Amino acid sequence: MFKTVTGGCYCGAIRYESTKPPVTTGMCHCRMCQRWTGMAAGTGAFFDLDSFRFTKGEPARFMTSPILERHFCPECGTHIGHSYATGDMSNQESIFIGTLDEPLEIESPAFHFGVEDHLPGWIQLQEGIPQVRADSSPLIKKAFEQVRSKSGDG
Ligand SMILES: [Zn+2]
Ligand SMILES: [Zn+2]
Repeated sequence: MFKTVTGGCYCGAIRYESTKPPVTTGMCHCRMCQRWTGMAAGTGAFFDLDSFRFTKGEPARFMTSPILERHFCPECGTHIGHSYATGDMSNQESIFIGTLDEPLEIESPAFHFGVEDHLPGWIQLQEGIPQVRADSSPLIKKAFEQVRSKSGDG
Protein backbone atom coordinates (compact mmCIF):
# COMPACT_ATOMS: atom_id res chain seq x y z
CA MET A 1 0.00 0.00 0.00
CA PHE A 2 1.42 3.36 -1.04
CA LYS A 3 2.02 5.92 1.66
CA THR A 4 2.66 9.61 1.17
CA VAL A 5 6.26 10.36 0.23
CA THR A 6 7.86 12.98 2.47
CA GLY A 7 11.20 14.70 2.68
CA GLY A 8 13.00 17.93 3.28
CA CYS A 9 16.28 19.75 3.65
CA TYR A 10 19.09 19.25 6.16
CA CYS A 11 17.94 21.95 8.62
CA GLY A 12 14.20 21.26 8.40
CA ALA A 13 13.20 24.71 7.10
CA ILE A 14 11.89 23.14 3.88
CA ARG A 15 9.57 20.13 3.86
CA TYR A 16 7.63 18.56 1.00
CA GLU A 17 5.27 15.69 0.30
CA SER A 18 3.80 13.78 -2.60
CA THR A 19 0.56 11.86 -2.32
CA LYS A 20 1.56 9.73 -5.32
CA PRO A 21 4.71 7.74 -6.13
CA PRO A 22 7.20 9.25 -8.57
CA VAL A 23 6.27 9.25 -12.24
CA THR A 24 9.82 8.24 -13.08
CA THR A 25 13.33 8.29 -11.65
CA GLY A 26 16.69 9.05 -13.17
CA MET A 27 20.25 10.17 -12.73
CA CYS A 28 21.73 13.10 -14.60
CA HIS A 29 25.46 13.12 -15.26
CA CYS A 30 25.56 16.43 -17.13
CA ARG A 31 28.08 19.13 -16.26
CA MET A 32 25.33 21.43 -14.99
CA CYS A 33 24.08 18.90 -12.45
CA GLN A 34 27.67 18.14 -11.46
CA ARG A 35 28.50 21.81 -11.06
CA TRP A 36 25.35 22.80 -9.21
CA THR A 37 25.21 19.84 -6.83
CA GLY A 38 28.98 19.58 -6.44
CA MET A 39 28.48 15.83 -6.87
CA ALA A 40 29.39 13.35 -9.59
CA ALA A 41 25.76 13.28 -10.76
CA GLY A 42 22.28 14.41 -9.85
CA THR A 43 19.63 11.93 -8.68
CA GLY A 44 15.97 12.52 -9.42
CA ALA A 45 12.56 11.23 -8.37
CA PHE A 46 10.07 13.02 -10.60
CA PHE A 47 6.74 13.85 -8.96
CA ASP A 48 3.65 15.16 -10.71
CA LEU A 49 2.87 18.69 -9.51
CA ASP A 50 -0.78 17.62 -9.05
CA SER A 51 0.30 15.46 -6.13
CA PHE A 52 3.46 17.26 -4.97
CA ARG A 53 3.66 20.31 -2.70
CA PHE A 54 6.04 22.06 -0.34
CA THR A 55 4.48 21.71 3.13
CA LYS A 56 6.92 23.91 5.06
CA GLY A 57 8.95 26.92 3.89
CA GLU A 58 9.57 28.01 0.33
CA PRO A 59 12.73 26.95 -1.47
CA ALA A 60 15.04 29.54 -2.96
CA ARG A 61 15.09 29.33 -6.74
CA PHE A 62 17.88 29.72 -9.30
CA MET A 63 17.76 29.24 -13.07
CA THR A 64 20.86 27.25 -14.07
CA SER A 65 19.76 27.46 -17.70
CA PRO A 66 16.83 29.04 -19.53
CA ILE A 67 14.86 25.79 -19.11
CA LEU A 68 15.71 24.58 -15.61
CA GLU A 69 14.85 26.15 -12.25
CA ARG A 70 16.84 24.74 -9.30
CA HIS A 71 15.36 24.66 -5.80
CA PHE A 72 17.39 24.80 -2.60
CA CYS A 73 17.02 25.68 1.07
CA PRO A 74 17.80 29.36 1.70
CA GLU A 75 18.91 28.50 5.27
CA CYS A 76 21.16 25.44 4.98
CA GLY A 77 21.78 25.31 1.21
CA THR A 78 20.51 21.75 0.67
CA HIS A 79 19.92 21.09 -3.02
CA ILE A 80 16.32 19.88 -3.05
CA GLY A 81 15.44 19.54 -6.71
CA HIS A 82 14.30 21.33 -9.82
CA SER A 83 11.49 21.96 -12.23
CA TYR A 84 11.48 22.66 -15.97
CA ALA A 85 10.30 25.98 -17.34
CA THR A 86 9.26 24.31 -20.58
CA GLY A 87 8.92 20.92 -22.28
CA ASP A 88 7.29 17.56 -21.51
CA MET A 89 8.36 17.50 -17.88
CA SER A 90 7.28 21.04 -16.90
CA ASN A 91 4.43 19.62 -14.79
CA GLN A 92 6.88 17.77 -12.54
CA GLU A 93 9.14 18.49 -9.59
CA SER A 94 12.32 16.44 -9.60
CA ILE A 95 13.60 15.74 -6.11
CA PHE A 96 17.17 14.75 -5.22
CA ILE A 97 16.59 11.40 -3.59
CA GLY A 98 18.95 12.09 -0.68
CA THR A 99 16.38 14.60 0.64
CA LEU A 100 13.67 11.93 0.93
CA ASP A 101 12.85 10.68 4.42
CA GLU A 102 13.06 7.13 3.07
CA PRO A 103 15.31 7.13 0.01
CA LEU A 104 15.54 3.32 0.01
CA GLU A 105 11.95 3.25 -1.26
CA ILE A 106 13.25 4.55 -4.58
CA GLU A 107 15.01 1.39 -5.70
CA SER A 108 17.01 2.54 -8.71
CA PRO A 109 17.00 5.03 -11.57
CA ALA A 110 14.88 4.25 -14.64
CA PHE A 111 17.32 6.11 -16.90
CA HIS A 112 20.70 7.79 -17.05
CA PHE A 113 20.83 11.18 -18.71
CA GLY A 114 23.74 13.33 -19.85
CA VAL A 115 25.96 10.26 -20.18
CA GLU A 116 28.52 12.10 -22.35
CA ASP A 117 29.73 13.71 -19.09
CA HIS A 118 29.45 10.54 -16.96
CA LEU A 119 32.40 10.03 -14.56
CA PRO A 120 33.10 6.28 -14.82
CA GLY A 121 35.66 6.23 -12.01
CA TRP A 122 33.04 7.47 -9.55
CA ILE A 123 29.75 6.00 -10.66
CA GLN A 124 29.15 2.70 -12.44
CA LEU A 125 26.10 2.62 -14.68
CA GLN A 126 23.87 -0.42 -14.13
CA GLU A 127 23.36 -2.62 -17.18
CA GLY A 128 19.94 -2.66 -18.78
CA ILE A 129 19.04 0.92 -17.86
CA PRO A 130 18.68 3.34 -20.79
CA GLN A 131 21.55 5.79 -21.26
CA VAL A 132 20.66 9.04 -22.98
CA ARG A 133 23.01 11.77 -24.16
CA ALA A 134 22.01 15.32 -23.20
CA ASP A 135 22.90 16.55 -26.68
CA SER A 136 20.27 14.19 -28.14
CA SER A 137 17.67 16.79 -27.09
CA PRO A 138 17.80 20.00 -29.19
CA LEU A 139 16.08 21.95 -26.39
CA ILE A 140 18.62 20.90 -23.76
CA LYS A 141 21.58 21.20 -26.13
CA LYS A 142 20.66 24.82 -26.87
CA ALA A 143 20.10 25.66 -23.19
CA PHE A 144 23.49 24.18 -22.29
CA GLU A 145 25.26 26.16 -24.99
CA GLN A 146 23.79 29.37 -23.58
CA VAL A 147 25.35 28.91 -20.15
CA ARG A 148 28.34 26.56 -20.38
CA SER A 149 30.98 29.24 -20.90
CA LYS A 150 29.80 31.19 -17.83
CA SER A 151 30.67 28.34 -15.47
CA GLY A 152 34.07 27.71 -17.06
CA ASP A 153 32.98 24.65 -19.03
CA GLY A 154 33.77 26.47 -22.28
ZN1 LIG B 1 17.46 23.80 5.24
ZN1 LIG C 1 21.86 17.41 -15.52
